[in-house]
Amino acid sequence: MSKAGAGQLILIVEDNDRNMKLARDVLQFHDFRTLEATNAEDGIRLAGERLPDVVLMDIALPGIDGVSAAQQLQSEPATSRIPIVALTASVSSADHERFLSAGFAGWISKPIDVLKFAYQVLGYCESTAAEP
Ligand code: MN
Repeated sequence: MSKAGAGQLILIVEDNDRNMKLARDVLQFHDFRTLEATNAEDGIRLAGERLPDVVLMDIALPGIDGVSAAQQLQSEPATSRIPIVALTASVSSADHERFLSAGFAGWISKPIDVLKFAYQVLGYCESTAAEP
């Protein structure tokens, strides 16, 4: 299997240890670099400091939820162009539409599909690179 990433920096905001470990391990195997936050406040701060290529955002987080966190990132000029992808266990199309209308670039279903995940994330990296 060829590796998907080429050093792109991915911020994972996820409060579940097992989900975090799986996402991080798959991405690092595929030569992405990763940053981790277990709550929205730390995620917002890290995004501003490190300007990742993509933010993977859990929705149900302690304190500020992922939708509000995404809106905060979009309201800051420094982070407004970073694609934010919802990590969600919801299969509800109403929820998916809610994420898109809140400004998420898309969503990835949990549990993640380890065969597809790195390529799904890469797709969001490339959508940034294609912008002027
Ligand atoms: Mn959660």
